[in-house]
Amino acid sequence: MLVVSCGCRFEKGRIYTYIGEVVVSVNPYRAMNIYGRDTIEQYKGRELYERPPHLFAIADAAYKAMKRRNKDTCIVISGESGAGKTEASKYIMQYIAAITNPGQRAEVERVKNMLLKSNCVLEAFGNAKTNRNDNSSRFGKYMDINFDFKGDPIGGHINNYLLEKSRVIFQQEGERSFHSFYQGTNTFQLLVSSIDDGADFKAVADAMKVIGFTADELQTVYKVLATILHLGNLTFGVDGDTTLIENSKVVAVIGDLLATKEENVEKALLYRTVATGRDVIDKQHTAQEASYGRDALAKAMYERMFCWIVGRINDVIEVKNYDAKVHGKNTVIGVLDIYGFEIFQNNSFEQFCINYCNEKLQQLFIQLVLRQEQEEYQREGIPWKHIDFFNNQIIVDLVELQHKGIFSVLDEACMNVGKVTDKVFLQGLNSKLVNHAHYTSRKLSPTDKSLEFDRDFRVRHYAGNVVYSVVGFIDKNKDTLFQDFKRLLYNSSNPVLKVMWPEGKLRITEVTKRPLTAATLFKNSMIALVENLACKEPYYVRCIKPNDVKSPLLFEHERCRHQVEYLGLLENVRVRRAGFANRQEYPRFLQRYKMISEFTWPNHDLPSEKEAVKKLLQGCGFEQDVAYGKTKVFIRTPRTLFCLEEQRTEMV
Ligand code: ADP
Ligand code: MG
Repeated sequence: MLVVSCGCRFEKGRIYTYIGEVVVSVNPYRAMNIYGRDTIEQYKGRELYERPPHLFAIADAAYKAMKRRNKDTCIVISGESGAGKTEASKYIMQYIAAITNPGQRAEVERVKNMLLKSNCVLEAFGNAKTNRNDNSSRFGKYMDINFDFKGDPIGGHINNYLLEKSRVIFQQEGERSFHSFYQGTNTFQLLVSSIDDGADFKAVADAMKVIGFTADELQTVYKVLATILHLGNLTFGVDGDTTLIENSKVVAVIGDLLATKEENVEKALLYRTVATGRDVIDKQHTAQEASYGRDALAKAMYERMFCWIVGRINDVIEVKNYDAKVHGKNTVIGVLDIYGFEIFQNNSFEQFCINYCNEKLQQLFIQLVLRQEQEEYQREGIPWKHIDFFNNQIIVDLVELQHKGIFSVLDEACMNVGKVTDKVFLQGLNSKLVNHAHYTSRKLSPTDKSLEFDRDFRVRHYAGNVVYSVVGFIDKNKDTLFQDFKRLLYNSSNPVLKVMWPEGKLRITEVTKRPLTAATLFKNSMIALVENLACKEPYYVRCIKPNDVKSPLLFEHERCRHQVEYLGLLENVRVRRAGFANRQEYPRFLQRYKMISEFTWPNHDLPSEKEAVKKLLQGCGFEQDVAYGKTKVFIRTPRTLFCLEEQRTEMV
C-alpha cells in the first residue's frame, strides 16, 4: 500500500511522502524545481501538514523544536546507495543556512559558509564513482550544527565512520577510486580515468583554502596522493634468498614525496623490525608479505589523511569560547548521512559492519519512537496500547554481545597464535551460536545448499537474510600496518605528515599493546553514535531508489517494496497506526480550524478551548478518529487532518 502510494506520487513528480513525521523520499533522478528561495519561504516556520510533504518541512520541524523548546534534535537519513541521502543532507543544510541569521551577522555567515564548504571537501576525498552511484559516499557522516540562543549557527562538528579504504588499491570493473586522485594528480597505473576532473579540483582546493588549510597542508595532501599512486606502481621480486624492489626508481620518488631518505623507504618496504626478548632484529619480508605491506601502507595513508582532513575542518568549525551565561543555551541539530542496509552477491566484512550499523539505528528508532509516543500519551493522560512489532535487539546482541557475539568471536580468532584463519573464525561461530535463531551455516543446516561449507554464514537481519563469506574477515579485522611504516612516516621531516602518525614515536621495544581491531573500533564508534543520537529528538528521512538505471521515469514496484521492508517503514506504519498520526495543542488547532464550524467561528462561548475543539470535531463527524489529551488533541489518521485542511481551504 505504502509502495503504491509512493509510486503514484513519484509518477506525478511528487517525490516526498509522509508516514507520521517520517518523510519518505524517492530519488527523482532529474533536477527538480523545488529547492529554490520561493519554496524555502513556503516552508519556513510552517507546521508539517500545512504544506505538501517536503524535506524542508522536516528540516523546519527539527529547527523549530530546537529553537522553541531548546531541544537538541537530529535528522537521520537512511537508504541504500544512490537513494539520495547525501543530496538530502545538503538540501537540509542549505535550508537551515537560508532561514537563519536574519541579522546577517558576519561571524554566523562565516560559520555557515564553512559548514557548506566542508561538504565539497569531504566529497572530494570520501566519495567515488561506483556502479550504483557516480558520486557515492564511501564513509558515514554525522554532522552537528551548533546554534546560539537566537537560533543562528555558530559552529559544528563532523564525525566520520568506516571509510572504505580498500578502494584505494582495488576497484570493481566500471568503478573508480576516490575523486581526489583524479582531480589532484596525473594518471598512474592505479587508475584509468575517463573524466577530466581538473576543474573540480580547483573548487576543492579553493574550498580548502577558505576553510583555512595552509599551502603546506595542501602540498602535503597532493604528496600523499602522489605517494599512494606511486606505491601502486611498485612491484617486488626475488633473487635467491633476497626480496627486492623491481622498479627502484619509484622508491626515490616516494622518498622525496615523504621527505625522508630513499633507503628508509626501501627498508620499511622490505624488512620488518621485530623484538625477540632483548634483541631487535630486521626480518626480511617475502615478496608476498612486502606486497601486503605496500597495500596496507597505501590504504592507511589515505585513511589517515582523510581523518586528518576531517580533524582540520573540525578545528575551524568547532564552537570556541562559548559562554552559556552570556549567550544562553547552545543547542544542536545533528544530521546523519550513513550507509543503508547492503545485500550484495558477495557480502564480506564491510557489509557485515554496515548492516550491523543499520541494526543499531533500527533499534534506536524503535526505542525512540516508542518511548516518545509512550511518554507523550502518559503526559496527556491517554491510555497506551501495546504495539506488536519485531524488536531487533536480539540481532544487535548477536553481533555485539561480549564473549558471545560475532565480533567477540572474530576478535578471539584474531588473537590465536598460529592457526589464524577465516575457517577457524567460522568454527568459533558455529560452536558459540549453534542455537541462535538468527544465525546459521552449512554445518548447522546441512541441507541448505545456498550456504557453502567452511565459507558462509547467514544472519537473519531485521531487513532480511544475508549470507556472508568469511573470506578476508581475519585480515580486515586485524588491519595490520607494520610498525616500520608508522615510524617511517613519523620520522618524516614534513611536519604536516608527521602529525598524522603520532604512534610512530614509539620505539619497537616500547610497542606492547595490540592496536584495537577494526570490528572493535567500529563497534565502539557505533555505540557512541547511538548514545549521542539517543539524547536528541529524532526526525527521519528514508530514501528510496526507484530503479537501478538512474531513470527519472521508472518506478520498479518490487524493488521499492523491498526497500520499504528493510528501511523498517512497515514497523513505522504499524507504530503510527496503533497510535495517532498527529497531535496539536488546543489553542493552535482552534486558531487554524475555527472557521469551519459555526460553534467556533468567529468566537466560541464554550468554557475552554478543549471543549471548543471537541464541539468542532463532533460537528464535522470526526469524533471516532480523535482523542482528547490534557493539552492536545490527538488525531488517529492523516485523512482526517487532510479533510480538515481541505474544508479550511474552502473557507478562506
Ligand atoms: P546516496 O548518498 O544515497 O548514495 P546521492 O545523494 O549521492 O545518493 O544521490 C545519487 C544521485 O541521485 C545524485 O548524484 C543525483 O544525481 C540524484 N539525486 C538524488 N537526490 C536528488 C534530488 N533530490 N533531486 C535530483 N536528483 C537527485
Ligand atoms: Mg551518499
